[in-house]
Amino acid sequence: MKISHDIKRQTPFSKTIKRWFSQRSPSRFAVNRFQWHWYPRFFISRNYPLHLDIEISSLCQLHCPMCFREHRVIPNQNNMKWETFRKIIDEAEGRVYSLKFTGRGEPLINPRFPKFMAYLKGKRFGEIGMITNGQLMTEEVMDAILENDLDFVSFSIDGLKEEYERIRAPIRYEEIHEIVSRLHELRTRRRKKRPLIRIQSVDRYVGDGKEFLQIWGPISDDILFLFFKDYSPTAHNVQMKGYACPYIFQRMIVHWDGTVPMCVNDEYETAVRGNILENSLSEIWTGASFQEARQRHIAGQRDEAYPCCAKCAVNRVGHGRETLAARTVLSAYRLLGRFLRPRVVSALEGNRR
Ligand code: SF4
Ligand code: SF4
Repeated sequence: MKISHDIKRQTPFSKTIKRWFSQRSPSRFAVNRFQWHWYPRFFISRNYPLHLDIEISSLCQLHCPMCFREHRVIPNQNNMKWETFRKIIDEAEGRVYSLKFTGRGEPLINPRFPKFMAYLKGKRFGEIGMITNGQLMTEEVMDAILENDLDFVSFSIDGLKEEYERIRAPIRYEEIHEIVSRLHELRTRRRKKRPLIRIQSVDRYVGDGKEFLQIWGPISDDILFLFFKDYSPTAHNVQMKGYACPYIFQRMIVHWDGTVPMCVNDEYETAVRGNILENSLSEIWTGASFQEARQRHIAGQRDEAYPCCAKCAVNRVGHGRETLAARTVLSAYRLLGRFLRPRVVSALEGNRR
């Protein structure tokens, strides 16, 4: 099963090793990585997701042309309230391995961000991170990140100067470079190991990548190039068939108002599985609605049953274009799955009895 979707890591192997050993617990991280990659292959989901995305804001101050937001407005946008955040954290602590602040908006728009960070200090999670466009990262926010040991900050920085300023207007290239440099400098000055500073860019905007690596390499720990995901209604859209998506065995997202859609890519809440204000995380994750979704995926009905899966930008064959190579790999995958899965699943069932 294809798990990571077109992430090309530009970081040298030595930095990857360093990342492993800077984890709060490298051994727990190793177990988590095993579960992450192998549980979906055998359709295993436990009482809690392995990872939780928390949308602390669905608002965004930018209008990036490649963003799904540019094609359709998200109704009912706002910041997550303190009570909602606390309810999620209180239940997830010690049960969910990792958290990330992300979703349909910019997390730093929520003015409660420093308070949320302070609440997370010392909580039993394996890894806590965030994805941000960086513009609102003030000194106060950097303090909150450094003092409360956020594990990673992923800055979305697409392309070199002119390209970046076109996409991420009105942020200037020098401005975002200064912000990332400042966080890097404060971390060094305070002798902190965290946060890991990651730079991510859509690959079509970085050319051959050399200049980008020269600019961002010295002030970051990890650089990722991500495949361009076409959210436009006219995008090529050939979906993988007979494919059970790993997402619904691995992770869950809670939107700002407590709504839990089927998946982080269900931006318009077409397949809502519950609301955290009415049920617990575990009740939603193990509930009939989520289980039904898993069964539909396993039965190969993902794209017939769920509108978000039918157009999913991360699970298209050959990124939407059917190629012979993509078809061959998929056929081999399906044949192997048909042979192996029933045997492994029944062996696991046998062990549980
Ligand atoms: S910053 Fe992120 S959420 Fe906001 S418009 Fe750009 S891509 Fe979309
Ligand atoms: S929308 Fe469906 S296919 Fe796409 S990532 Fe989510 S669960 Fe998987």
